[in-house]
Amino acid sequence: TAATGLPSVAPAARELDVRRAGPYEDEVRALLARMTPQEKLGQLQQLPWVYDLNPGSGSTKEVEDAARSGRLGSVLSVFGARTTNALQRLAVEESRLGIPLLFGLDVIHGFWTTFPIPLAQAAAFDPEVARADAEVSAREARSHGVHWTFSPMMDVTREPRWGRVAEGNGEDPFLTARYAAAKVTGYQGSDLSAKTAVAACAKHFVAYGGAEGGRDYNTVDVSESRLRNLYLPPFEAALEAGAATVMASFNTVSGVPGHGNAHTLTDILRKEWGFEGMVVSDWTGVQELIAHGFAEDGADAARLALNAGVDMEMTSTNLRTHGGRLLREGRISRRRVDDAVTRVLRLKYALGLFDDPYVDEDAALTGPSAKAREAARAAAARSMVLLKNDGGILPLSRTLGSLALVGPFADSADLLGTWVVPAAAERFPAVRILDAVRRAAPDTKVTYARGVAPEGGDTAGIGAAVAAARAAELTVVVVGEPAGLSGEAAARSDLALPGAQEGLIAAIAETGRPFVVVLVNGRPLTVGSWLDKAPAVVEAWHPGVEAGHAVADVLFGTVNPGGKLPVSFPRTVGQLPVHYNHESTGRPYDADNKYTSKYLDLPPTPRFPFGHGLSYTTFALGAPELSRARVSARALRQGDTVEVSVPVRNTGSRTGDEVVQLYVRDVAASIVQPVRRLRGFRRVTLGAGAATTVRFRLAAADLGFWTNDPHGTFLVEEGTFKLYVGTSSTADAELTLNVT
Ligand code: BGC
Repeated sequence: TAATGLPSVAPAARELDVRRAGPYEDEVRALLARMTPQEKLGQLQQLPWVYDLNPGSGSTKEVEDAARSGRLGSVLSVFGARTTNALQRLAVEESRLGIPLLFGLDVIHGFWTTFPIPLAQAAAFDPEVARADAEVSAREARSHGVHWTFSPMMDVTREPRWGRVAEGNGEDPFLTARYAAAKVTGYQGSDLSAKTAVAACAKHFVAYGGAEGGRDYNTVDVSESRLRNLYLPPFEAALEAGAATVMASFNTVSGVPGHGNAHTLTDILRKEWGFEGMVVSDWTGVQELIAHGFAEDGADAARLALNAGVDMEMTSTNLRTHGGRLLREGRISRRRVDDAVTRVLRLKYALGLFDDPYVDEDAALTGPSAKAREAARAAAARSMVLLKNDGGILPLSRTLGSLALVGPFADSADLLGTWVVPAAAERFPAVRILDAVRRAAPDTKVTYARGVAPEGGDTAGIGAAVAAARAAELTVVVVGEPAGLSGEAAARSDLALPGAQEGLIAAIAETGRPFVVVLVNGRPLTVGSWLDKAPAVVEAWHPGVEAGHAVADVLFGTVNPGGKLPVSFPRTVGQLPVHYNHESTGRPYDADNKYTSKYLDLPPTPRFPFGHGLSYTTFALGAPELSRARVSARALRQGDTVEVSVPVRNTGSRTGDEVVQLYVRDVAASIVQPVRRLRGFRRVTLGAGAATTVRFRLAAADLGFWTNDPHGTFLVEEGTFKLYVGTSSTADAELTLNVT
């Protein structure tokens, strides 16, 4: 920066927390004073770099020119130490003020080391899994000059048809909030300027997971209380953990698009929560205000988005193009532009970019380390859920004489899931299940037949799969969804196993030979009639780069599965929405009552409830206890808490994990509350016969709720609360707490 004549800036301290005025305010102000309006608007522009193109070709020329002329603040989808350094040089050495660029990338569940998809991680009921993913991701990404990841995604969803359910942590705001905070901590560490940290982005703000019918980008009409009780808590937790940025969401929220929503982006995020970080639009989200029917044209879209609280425009260029005129005409204020630029510059200072904008190309990590792979393997195994295990058919014995592996994913590398860094998918494909099983059981004769394709109706291969099953002592059927069926713009109207996969299971079942099913998928599936025929089912999700090893770990019992479902599995699509934290009607379900809330042709329960998951051992919970049966609302508001404790014992013969869960029901409230709300969970590991006592603390935040007041009123009301303690959302051990 010295070459530009800019006073050299060397902030004394490196504070992480960019929510509050950091120690860079003087530097930012001095810089701002030197900037032309065009340079300011340039800082608010982010352009994509198509990172598999050669520099200088296609759209990359536009990015380079913008960097040189100081009309660019950030580049996304940029990858590779050499590329980031070369681009950075253009901005730092050739632009008038030498302001460094900010490089962003979707590092969602891994950079080189692909961890299991976020939905899978949630099934571990252990936020440490997310923290570990984020820490490894940050180290790998930052070594290539990536400063910022568009993660964590924390959209609570009730819609398994929505493809992006794979990217989030399921249907519960409490679980999602814990994961969001852990992931932010993992990405950012304690010092954003460290060359092992990246800035996190809490997305998508807000209520994107409520898309009607699960169709991506669809309308969301939500009451203020639901917005605050269901969709906002993870964001609040992420910001409390220090998340540096927030991304606006594509959907409307009660008629107002996320990108033009002053209520969510300014009233709540900035004024109520005091967020001082930066808000980035989603991909062309500003431009899309026109298609939404909210903005007249590009200039109008720029004005609405900036005034609502968007600071940086991703991909579309309305602010940069029309901002000058909007300023001259007084349709946007200089003050608001300066505020947005301040937020961008503050982040660049916090990341240490004014001190050292480059990365050491020789030190750029070239792939997953052994340790990172080990973490990914442990995370994947920890995320798996044993849905069913009749007669204890699992774990498999390593002394089986023969084993057949069948199904379209048994010998497939399509196990990484959605949102994988393309170069990582290419260079570090998932370990195949067939290979890992062969390695895990070297003395077993392992045969393989694909049977059917992942999609499509061709059944010609089923005969060979049946023959393999007949010839083997036991068969493992690996079925599921290709990665492309979940993720963005990947909504499905049918949640069955695609193609002819159910037919394959039925054919294997007909052999009468023992078999187990492994599911690899990015969302809850409607597990059809084949479930009754399958003695055991392991939900493995999309497990990431160490997929095969982790599946083998669980199949052979090297790891005793302890995951739990972070989403309900519906019986049919027609049953949707299905989630445990629903409200009660005035006519709750009653099998004998015609006039009750039910479908004539279905039981009211999901196929598998939220929180469900088995183990190769068994656990018994003792009677839960409350530290006291009565507490005043006033004391709670002043910070008092109540303790719930429950003894848990491993009653089986091998070490295993149980997730003890606590749910709360406010029996009568001025706004009807969900029949249950998760308020505590703890995953414990116990040896055979070992016992421990799990303790939870309930505070005002756990017992109260947000009302419909748009200004944000949180109430802890007097009355009776039922507490349920157990090992799934159907837990029936009940306690009563009176709030007086
Ligand atoms: C997605 C975001 C993502 C962005 C950048 C958008 O389409 O909604 O989640 O971060 O693209 O790739």
